[in-house]
Amino acid sequence: MRVTLLGTGTSHGVPAIACDCAVCHSTDARDRRMRPSILLDLGEMDARPGVGSAAVAASPTAAAVRYVLVDTGTDLRAQALAYNVRRVDAILFTHSHADHIMGLDEVRRYNMVQQATIGCYADARTLGDLRRMFSYIFETGPRAGGGVPRLSMFEIGGPFSIGGVEVIPIPLMHGPREILGYRVGSFAYLTDCNHIPDRSWPLLEGVRTLVLDALRHRSHSTHFSVDEALQVVARLRPERTCFTHICHDLPHAATCARLPAGVELAYDGLVLDIT
Ligand SMILES: [Zn+2]
Ligand SMILES: [Zn+2]
Ligand SMILES: [Zn+2]
Repeated sequence: MRVTLLGTGTSHGVPAIACDCAVCHSTDARDRRMRPSILLDLGEMDARPGVGSAAVAASPTAAAVRYVLVDTGTDLRAQALAYNVRRVDAILFTHSHADHIMGLDEVRRYNMVQQATIGCYADARTLGDLRRMFSYIFETGPRAGGGVPRLSMFEIGGPFSIGGVEVIPIPLMHGPREILGYRVGSFAYLTDCNHIPDRSWPLLEGVRTLVLDALRHRSHSTHFSVDEALQVVARLRPERTCFTHICHDLPHAATCARLPAGVELAYDGLVLDIT
């Protein structure tokens, strides 16, 4: 499996609008951060091991799913063009904050190219928010103009299978709100969180590559700070950790130089090969 980090910035993006700080004016490309999203390439169908445990429910869209997008962020179109995302076979949503969903309308282009409806997976609250915030997508009746995304919505109730690959939702606390991280094999994506509930730790055992929220050095009410994220790393002990959802307080090179071995700041376009 291959993971591409399409965006590693916080909700404002970096550079932030009308900011004169050093990071927002940096010439290091790794200091330019679009809104958070990743793309999973599950690889060729026949290279995948058999469908996982009996507890894994068969997905209605199991056939020929290879490219799985996590969130449809504000910058989806720019990310798809920058990183040549030519297909999206399924979408996982972490939660319904604007920076994670506002690119949903861009999915029309994949419907058109692939001539197919795209399966979307989210928890009940996020599904409800999507139906309300994008009500025009879910209205029935005649369509005019450029059309609307064609989506099949599935409520996540536990581990499930996409294209024969087991996806494990990981409950996370994002301030007072419970949202979802995701684990696929030895990889986990835990964005937008400031606490990992007790029941989620066993789900993360054996994770070797981790992408984890670390907003900035100062503490925050809904995101891990760098020090808090390092405490998660110390407990989980993955081989490689990449911090994401990064704000303009953290210059890439200087921050990475001070992080322990095996821990780095992610950057847009970073590719992780997961074995
Ligand atoms: Zn966010
Ligand atoms: Zn700035
Ligand atoms: Zn959020």
